[in-house]
Amino acid sequence: MTRPLIGVLALQGDVREHVRALEASGARALTVRRASELTAVDGLVLPGGESTTIEKLLHTFDLFSPLQERIADGLPVYGSCAGMILLADRILDGAPGQRTLGGLDVTVRRNAFGRQVDSFEEDLDAPLLGAGPSDPALHAIFIRAPWVEEAGPAVEVLATVRSGPAGGKIVAVRQGALMATAFHPEISSDHRVHEVFVGLVASRRG
Ligand code: GLN
Repeated sequence: MTRPLIGVLALQGDVREHVRALEASGARALTVRRASELTAVDGLVLPGGESTTIEKLLHTFDLFSPLQERIADGLPVYGSCAGMILLADRILDGAPGQRTLGGLDVTVRRNAFGRQVDSFEEDLDAPLLGAGPSDPALHAIFIRAPWVEEAGPAVEVLATVRSGPAGGKIVAVRQGALMATAFHPEISSDHRVHEVFVGLVASRRG
């Protein structure tokens, strides 16, 4: 079987790291900046960066509506950090007028861990990502990250923060073909999140 072709939206953010993580997880990767590239891919990654900037660039590059249509058609999409915000149906603490692509029945709180804390690392409980009680913990890197404040009934919780002030907060979810993490697995050497997404794309491919 040929490896699935997974796009990485390449308007802003940490694109190269996702390309490498996807290739290390058994996919072919393609950077996506135009509608014809979006049509070609079996799945798409929305990288971390700045959600308001990515939203503006999606309009500038005429990708906002085509991407919303592909999401509605069942395209597998994985959003990391700003990408999680873009996939959320509802945002708290968004910029004035900020819109999302939507698709995930969640409310995310932007910059939820506090503006004073730029980045930090946490161990997560994530049995569905291969990080159950008897596995190595999923070590996650957060950068001005959101969290999931509330999730609808169809949303599966993939990971929560294990302990500390944010203990129990939901930081990874899946609903149908959509997956999102508040953290950045692409900048760690642990590829379990990308492997799960590549598996999801492969299973959904015609
Ligand atoms: N705080 C950023 C936003 O609102 C997300 C940060 C990130 O992607 N690392 O888009």
